[in-house]
Amino acid sequence: MDKQQILKQYFGYDSFRSGQETLIDSILGGGDTLGIMPTGAGKSLCFQVPALMLPGITLVISPLISLMKDQVMTLNQAGIHAAFLNSSLTQNQYFKALSLAREGRYKIIYVAPERLLTDSFLEFALEAEISMVAVDEAHCVSQWGQDFRPGYLKIAEFIDRLRVRPVVAAFTATATKEVRDDIIDLLHLHEPLVTTTGFDRPNLYFAVHSPRDKYDTIKRYLENHRGESGIIYCLTRKYVEEVCSKLRQDGFPVTRYHAGLSDGERRQNQDDFIYDRSPIMVATNAFGMGIDKSNVRYVIHYNMPKNMESYYQEAGRAGRDGEPAECILLYGGQDVITNQFFIDHNTDNQELDPMTRALVGERDRERLRRMTFYCFTNDCLRDYILRYFGEYGSNYCGNCANCLTGFEEVDVTQIVRALAGCVLSCRQRYGVNVIIDTVHGANTAKIRQYRMDANPHYGELAKIPTYKLRQVMNFLMLQEYLTVTPDEYAVVKLTKKSAMALEPKEPILMKMAREQERPEKKEKAGRTRKGAAGFVLGREDEQLFEALRRLRSEIARKEGVPPYIVFSDKTLSHMCVIRPGNRNEMLSVAGVGEFKYEKYGEAFLKCVAGFEKEQADRTDFEGPEFRSMEYGEPQDYENF
Ligand code: ADP
Ligand code: MG
Repeated sequence: MDKQQILKQYFGYDSFRSGQETLIDSILGGGDTLGIMPTGAGKSLCFQVPALMLPGITLVISPLISLMKDQVMTLNQAGIHAAFLNSSLTQNQYFKALSLAREGRYKIIYVAPERLLTDSFLEFALEAEISMVAVDEAHCVSQWGQDFRPGYLKIAEFIDRLRVRPVVAAFTATATKEVRDDIIDLLHLHEPLVTTTGFDRPNLYFAVHSPRDKYDTIKRYLENHRGESGIIYCLTRKYVEEVCSKLRQDGFPVTRYHAGLSDGERRQNQDDFIYDRSPIMVATNAFGMGIDKSNVRYVIHYNMPKNMESYYQEAGRAGRDGEPAECILLYGGQDVITNQFFIDHNTDNQELDPMTRALVGERDRERLRRMTFYCFTNDCLRDYILRYFGEYGSNYCGNCANCLTGFEEVDVTQIVRALAGCVLSCRQRYGVNVIIDTVHGANTAKIRQYRMDANPHYGELAKIPTYKLRQVMNFLMLQEYLTVTPDEYAVVKLTKKSAMALEPKEPILMKMAREQERPEKKEKAGRTRKGAAGFVLGREDEQLFEALRRLRSEIARKEGVPPYIVFSDKTLSHMCVIRPGNRNEMLSVAGVGEFKYEKYGEAFLKCVAGFEKEQADRTDFEGPEFRSMEYGEPQDYENF
């Protein structure tokens, strides 16, 4: 079989995505290969397809048990024999798997890097015919990356020990030069072909909002997106707890994840999310690495993260299936302060010398600034992201909040004068909160204790909500009209530019994100699915989608796999458009290969036929009111 046939037969796709063929051809040509592609671009296929064409076994080195499990499950579902060897197996299971591997049962074996040099594994590897070593998440080898994993340093030694050197292919989504050089050096890649594909993810919609009440915004969003799976990222554990418990009280199927939970609970919650028992995950940034769930329809950031790298990585977990998905960042001025605090109290770099540490801190602060600019930019958000990563897009993408709506320009002169005036009149002795509370006229013990209730600016802007004052305060910091001391007291100080804030010569305008949901957003909520091929699902299609989704849930439950492993959302929406009536038509649906057809084809054909018949019957015999009663409301979750 050639690569095209394998793609169709096993994976059910008609064409390769950008970059995939180049990488596959390079591997099949016997050359070392390094693929740098963004999350969701389809890196796994680049080693899985050649693995099926090469004579021997392919070893895939992967950092996380969840990643291995997910991919092995997907392969098995597609009719490909694969297994994983990692610490989740008992001793017995491990030796059983090894002996099956010796018998040549598996074409693809996933293995944790720490296993490679163990006696039992080496013994097997020295006997076996290994055609390729594929290193997934290859940036883990680099200390420059965020996810350094010492075990990855053993890979090169392992490969050197093999009798015949297999082709080595490495894959990552991290593209910085340091990391790329490290991968090539530390994995001993031999003159590799390096391919980088664009970082754009056209199916992701980007938006930034600065709502008065973040929780309320999230709640309304979730109400409009019932039945969909999504992630809500918070900056701290405390926020995770808060948001998760409120959502639970409000009846949403949520779960949570952060480093403060026990291993067992983390694993349980992660599984609940993956299997769609709790399709909404509230988490800190500890969650996500190794989550290949393809049907995440939205990623909401409850707080602004510390830099664009983190943001794009986390937001990028939405829409891996190529279907439309939304990435929404809820900005609040406090987020800057919290992040600043994390940077100033970073304990990760203890072993660095003071000068390097200062440099790292400086770089982190700069990255935070550029993250903050993202929240305030008036330009196309996608363009901002791509430019950040060194790519040049067009300045209008048509699929972000700025392109679709724009920001409003607000005259903030009066607010600026009051804030700067207050800093001056309190002799630069207090922090952001005291200044804001004073201007707002808060009647708290602290304000009275500091005698700020006697400050000439006390209560001057009582009518302006504090979140807005905070936004303006932050704007003043960014523009360097004011600054804060870099210690834990974060005292607000005047700068050389402060005169322009105290006595502005012309109106000071600031771009503020509009607050209300805009009409096109409502329309967007109605138009739930638009395929990558550009098809839009109508109301009836959506009803069929729900029926197919229920069938998928049933099958998934019976087989004990997550629903998206049976078929992706994209495959289901494609089915709604094609409405297959026979085997051949079903095989033309993206994501339906021969093997999956044998397993599920009939059931889904039946579901489509049943739906069509029901529709026809209703149209013939009953009034439209009845129909809308029956199908008008969103259907239940895929909960079980
Ligand atoms: P990555 O590892 O690059 O983040 P994955 O390998 O997990 O991405 O692939 C993401 C999704 O894209 C998967 O659901 C996969 O089945 C799908 N995919 C990969 N290649 C293709 C293709 N050629 N056509 C359609 N879908 C694809
Ligand atoms: Mg991957």
